Amino acid sequence: MDELTAEVVVAGAGPTGLMLANELALAGVDVVVLERLAERTGLSKALNLQPRTAEVLDLRGLLGRAEQRSFATVAEGHFAMLPVSYAGWDTRHPYQLGIPQAQVEAALEERLAEQGTKVLRGQELTSFTQDAEGVTVTTTTTTIRAAYLVGCDGGRSAVRKALRLPFEGIDGRGHGVVADVRFAATPPGAQSEWRSMRNIVTADGVGKYTGLIPLSEPNLYRLAYGDRLNRPANLRAEVTDGEVRDVITKTYGAETKVEEIRWASRFGDDSRLAAKYRVGRVLLAGDAAHTHFPAGGQGLNLGVQDAMNLGWKLAAQLKSKAPTNLLDSYEQERRPVAEAVVQNVAAQSALIPATPELLALRTVFRAMSELPEAQHYLSGLVSGLSISYKAPQNAHPATGTRLPDFKTRTGHASDWFHKGKFVLLTTTPTEPPHPDVEVAAVPELPWPDLTRALIRPDGHVANTTGKTKGWLT
Ligand SMILES: Cc1cc2nc3c(=O)[nH]c(=O)nc-3n(C[C@H](O)[C@H](O)[C@H](O)COP(=O)(O)OP(=O)(O)OC[C@H]3O[C@@H](n4cnc5c(N)ncnc54)[C@H](O)[C@@H]3O)c2cc1C
Repeated sequence: MDELTAEVVVAGAGPTGLMLANELALAGVDVVVLERLAERTGLSKALNLQPRTAEVLDLRGLLGRAEQRSFATVAEGHFAMLPVSYAGWDTRHPYQLGIPQAQVEAALEERLAEQGTKVLRGQELTSFTQDAEGVTVTTTTTTIRAAYLVGCDGGRSAVRKALRLPFEGIDGRGHGVVADVRFAATPPGAQSEWRSMRNIVTADGVGKYTGLIPLSEPNLYRLAYGDRLNRPANLRAEVTDGEVRDVITKTYGAETKVEEIRWASRFGDDSRLAAKYRVGRVLLAGDAAHTHFPAGGQGLNLGVQDAMNLGWKLAAQLKSKAPTNLLDSYEQERRPVAEAVVQNVAAQSALIPATPELLALRTVFRAMSELPEAQHYLSGLVSGLSISYKAPQNAHPATGTRLPDFKTRTGHASDWFHKGKFVLLTTTPTEPPHPDVEVAAVPELPWPDLTRALIRPDGHVANTTGKTKGWLT
């Protein structure tokens, strides 16, 4: 058996694990990424980056790579398949970027390799033990001794299970299917390019829906259908071509010809949240910590943002720069965010009408959702733009919020964060208060009553005093 050492083992090279590994490598942490699969399947569950994820990638100079691999820019998001506009938000990215999950992973893995870290493929974490000094991780062929282990190993996380953490939430009753289908021609009523969330879905019976999203090739679509009241006995059973063709014929007519069904997958609608995100030297992030029905296009985005929150804190802990409790703030900040997503997903499910009363509720909700304030509220939920972390009592209202990106003399504020450090925004040029803080002199701050603000590496406001106490030792 091979023996390795590292500072952090990341289990799982999905979007969460790859983003986290990038953050750690950027901070100079020796990280090993274990991935069970010998190679990426190339199949994509998620298809989008939400505005806040685009911002987060931009903070690290990664957005351009994602854009190069994207196939669409979509003007809106959706809540229960009702379009919600991002236009009212103070963001440079008021849209969803259409990009297959596999391409997000490829972009992140490419940058990771440039930082000198390779994913160890065909390496499944099988067990681990932890003690006061570290964690010993075992795979089928290797033992690795590290200071920390992070389980980014997806919804069926072996790490979470080994920690025996309760994974509780809402038991769904239904199921959904996605299939990538190439048609002979554009199906009736479908968009030929993915530009908007309007007219994507057809509700076709009590608790049932069918939708088509155009993908990157002519007449190639992501077909999604489901029934939120009925679940087949075996959720993992193969989805047959016959089942997919039947749904297409029933919804879009017998004249809608299918050329190819590339893949299809069935999934449940349970929503679950790990009771804790950290047990000693072992942490959880992404789907390992939370899973839910993929309504609103939020899961991958949540995972990438977990990684952005955890990476710099874990690096600071390892480099002895973190004050006590900084690492604990990861769970304190990110678990409520996942809880809110689980709740909005449950609300979206309820709006797929299962009774005449719920159909009436959807009709009323649809009209209400078009009011500007409702659009702003709902788009804030799914975009991640309204996420704000808890601030101390009497702190300035900007504390904990995200720094809106703005133009600078040479580029954009996001450029200052490429090294993953704290940034002190100040109207009076000053010496850096700490070696891990970059100073950015600006004529004015986005908050007119402030003359300085210390911004965390993840782009949230640490404080408006500029002091590093409580953030860096
Ligand atoms: C049908 C469907 C559609 C979706 N659509 C969207 C969408 O449009 N937008 C969106 O934001 N989200 C969407 N999601 C959710 C999104 O796919 C997930 O939230 C995302 O994959 C989570 O990323 P992750 O890295 O946390 O976990 P995963 O992507 O599950 O990655 C975990 C990785 O860990 C590896 N692994 C597992 N066990 C081990 C082990 N023991 N040792 C080593 N490696 C291991 C796995 O092989 C995998 O590569 C969708 C989900 C589904 C099912």
